[in-house]
Amino acid sequence: MPDFLDQDIKFLAGVGPKRAELLKKELSISSFRDLLYYFPYKYIDRTKFYKIRELDASQAYIQVKGTLGNFELIGEGRKQRLTASFHDETGSMDLIWFAGIKYIRENLKPRQNYIVFGKPSVFNGRMNIIHPEIESQSSQQVSTGVLQAFYNTTETLKKRFLNTRAINKIQHNLAESITGKIYETLPATVREPLKLMQLAKALRQIHFPENTQDLQKATFRLKFEELFYIQLKILSLKHKRQEVFKGFVFEQVGYNFNTFFQNNLPFELTGAQKKVTKEIRRDLGSGKQMNRLVQGDVGSGKTLVALMVALIAFDNGYQASLMAPTEILAIQHFNTISRMLQGIGLNVALLTGSTRKKERERIYSGIENGDIQFLIGTHALIEDTVNFQKLGLVIIDEQHRFGVAQRAKLWKKNAGIPPHVLVMTATPIPRTLAMTLYGDLDVSVIDELPPGRKPIETRHYLENRRNQVYDFIRNQVNKGRQAYIVFPLISESEKLDLKSLEDGYELLKKVFPRFKLSMVHGKLKPAEKDFEMQQFKDGKTQIMVATTVIEVGVDVPNASIMIIESAERFGLSQLHQLRGRVGRGAEQSYCLLMSSYKISNESRKRLETMVRTNDGFEIAEVDLQLRGPGDLEGTQQSGIGFNLNIANLGKDGEILRIARDAAIDILDNDPHLQSRDNQLLSYHLQRMKTTEFDWSIIS
Ligand code: ADP
Ligand code: MG
Repeated sequence: MPDFLDQDIKFLAGVGPKRAELLKKELSISSFRDLLYYFPYKYIDRTKFYKIRELDASQAYIQVKGTLGNFELIGEGRKQRLTASFHDETGSMDLIWFAGIKYIRENLKPRQNYIVFGKPSVFNGRMNIIHPEIESQSSQQVSTGVLQAFYNTTETLKKRFLNTRAINKIQHNLAESITGKIYETLPATVREPLKLMQLAKALRQIHFPENTQDLQKATFRLKFEELFYIQLKILSLKHKRQEVFKGFVFEQVGYNFNTFFQNNLPFELTGAQKKVTKEIRRDLGSGKQMNRLVQGDVGSGKTLVALMVALIAFDNGYQASLMAPTEILAIQHFNTISRMLQGIGLNVALLTGSTRKKERERIYSGIENGDIQFLIGTHALIEDTVNFQKLGLVIIDEQHRFGVAQRAKLWKKNAGIPPHVLVMTATPIPRTLAMTLYGDLDVSVIDELPPGRKPIETRHYLENRRNQVYDFIRNQVNKGRQAYIVFPLISESEKLDLKSLEDGYELLKKVFPRFKLSMVHGKLKPAEKDFEMQQFKDGKTQIMVATTVIEVGVDVPNASIMIIESAERFGLSQLHQLRGRVGRGAEQSYCLLMSSYKISNESRKRLETMVRTNDGFEIAEVDLQLRGPGDLEGTQQSGIGFNLNIANLGKDGEILRIARDAAIDILDNDPHLQSRDNQLLSYHLQRMKTTEFDWSIIS
């Protein structure tokens, strides 16, 4: 059925081929539908006018009524600008244009009355508005109520007069032409219990709100719909997967597990470790393939949980593999786990990119004939040359570093029944996000740290107290502690970053002539990196100067001081990860955040949050709120891979919960969406392109 909304935007009144080209290039708007779903980013109360005397440069968008003065052309060539004074009964200001000068002069008339919109600023002590939007006081307003919608545009568009006002006008033309042609996308069974506004009305109100209440209802309806369909999609995929994939049943706990538990376990399990292990055991006995995410703050003891689950796999005659994101981590896991399994008689092997050919071949055949039960390694594990005899369990550590595609590749290592999958992450994910990103996984949370840990003390220092910080380090190291000093990646250029690290290293050698220093960064060969790490681990060096390569998982209990240089440059979750490197031993640990004086408000909030709390979930919530969903760079870091159009995962947690509950309700009663009521849902679910969420980023 060719949909009215699929028409090319160039056919819309007021657009035409030239503007269509621009809209497509600048805003990816190519159809009627794209424009309709191009929502305003804010609304301004059109009844409010400011007086020129009331203006100050801290104000956001404002509107002023007044009279235009004479034009004046200043400067030459590319620096040329057009100015005109603009006055009301309280004072005057300047209007300034750098582009579109000809058009402005032809279309605006001095001594006429206009309404001017824009952001006030100050130049040479005089108030001005640069590139104001301007309309004559008599011209008809497109807004139907008191609220005027504002749309994001680009510099290019503004230069070609496709500013927010222009978009507003073409939205109006669109709204006129689609009356009666918008079909409802949510069945009454979903809409009515929640009193959701009809789609057609919501789409009109979102662009042309008549009042605040209707705007609110429209926003709710559209956010709900967006989140609802994502949940419906994720949850129905999960249903399908559980129907299609059977899972190995790990029935018994036997020799391996029991011997470990009785002889090798060095400490009592925490309550949270017990709880999560139980949840996992339930999955393993269910006959369905397990896909579980274990979230646990840094240091909460995830490795141990993973190891116990692996032991159950061995007891049932299966192999297990553990994949880590870096070589350092893989080696560390291999060492810890080999040590913990001493005397039990299991074969554990380590496979990474730098495993020698001979060893590699030994491992390949050991895996294939079942001699090796436990394979630990990096990405090297998922290469096609690795064939397991009977892989029953795949553990992925620090999940955020892996793509879903890689995860899927591991599943496929068994023909027929896929192995159980356990994903572990120390990046606490706020509940709202977990529901969206990992909606297809079951989630367990290790929400308790092993006993005896003292909370890390975090402080923020400015440059002028650097010497105090050095004294502090000196004191602590003299008491036998070790310290990390971490430098950020400052520039895009690896060379420059390395230089700033190396300069720091040279300086620190002079500051601490009596201590031994190690240095680790991403450009070192794995063997060199390993050597340096080992030196530090063994206490042969006291200070580790590093980039964020030590961010993930590295465990040196005697290191109790973390200094983060230029801390304002790090994201919150990264700061938290780094801090997690200390606080692993019995000693009081410290995290000192160094920053310059001039930092943005957002950076300040991040540092304040770090000083205030050690709770990873609280930090994750703040992080999400600070960054919001629009920040692409940030989203890639944390793995938020959704192109949400209107909902905001940081702010709309409650709507998400309602949407998820509604989706669960429907699938519980009708998992295949076969009932008449659910035909509409089924239709839209199929129409949802999988590209609407970018699975590759969920990692
Ligand atoms: P993470 O969850 O960050 O991966 P690890 O598994 O590396 O944490 O554990 C951190 C440290 O805590 C390790 O040194 C580990 O031996 C120790 N640990 C784990 N569980 C317990 C426990 N129940 N009691 C005491 N120490 C524990
Ligand atoms: Mg770990």
